[in-house]
Amino acid sequence: MKIIMLGAPGAGKGTQAKMIADKYGVPHVSTGDIFRANIKEGTELGKEAKSYMDQGLLVPDELTVKILLDRVAKEDCMNGYVLDGFPRTIPQAEVLEKALAELGDNIDYAIDVDVPDENIVNRMSGRRACTECGATYHIVHIPPKTEGVCDKCGKELVLRDDDKPETVGRRLSVYHEQTQPLIDFYSKKGILKTIDGTADMRDVFAAIIQILGE
Ligand code: ADP
Ligand code: AMP
Repeated sequence: MKIIMLGAPGAGKGTQAKMIADKYGVPHVSTGDIFRANIKEGTELGKEAKSYMDQGLLVPDELTVKILLDRVAKEDCMNGYVLDGFPRTIPQAEVLEKALAELGDNIDYAIDVDVPDENIVNRMSGRRACTECGATYHIVHIPPKTEGVCDKCGKELVLRDDDKPETVGRRLSVYHEQTQPLIDFYSKKGILKTIDGTADMRDVFAAIIQILGE
């Protein structure tokens, strides 16, 4: 099962991708998480990615495509994966399609988590992410048991630099310009499924199970 999660930043792709990964036993592959891990480790890739991420811009396709193709070539991805945050541009989607076609393979579903822009600012300003394990919460909608502390590993929860209000507007316009065209791209391929992402996270997941099967 190979799945792509589409949707604006803050729509809930990561939240749902983690639930899909748990239920269906496929790895959750997030290019944003890979970049953040590199930033934390202080690698050259991390330094370069950070300069774009902090401005709310996309990391250039050349860098992003390579790390994604390397990741999905790993053993644990052989039976499928759920991609969260990739592709974000038409060229990225085309490279992925070509790489899969060379293996006689293809993406099964592109799930668009649909959330209007008005809700996005609230989602991102309330998001808190664990500095250690990457788990995400929302201060109002999906709060941790103890404020500021990760339920899963006990480490500190922070507001991501790129979730600060001054960056969110830029990220939304980048989404509309560069990523939203993928909805049409996958619709034409006949694999697009659109779900209402404004519902409670459990109801959003129930809609995804309807699509993927029990
Ligand atoms: P994305 O991966 O699309 O950027 P996230 O999954 O990190 O988005 O979700 C963004 C924020 O919204 C997080 O704080 C998350 O806890 C919260 N969130 C996710 N799904 C829902 C939902 N269905 N209802 C309310 N808040 C949600
Ligand atoms: P995310 O965690 O998916 O919200 O991604 C955080 C940031 O990482 C984005 O705003 C981009 O700067 C960068 N990024 C993640 N995935 C990609 C991608 N597929 N293409 C380009 N940039 C990306």
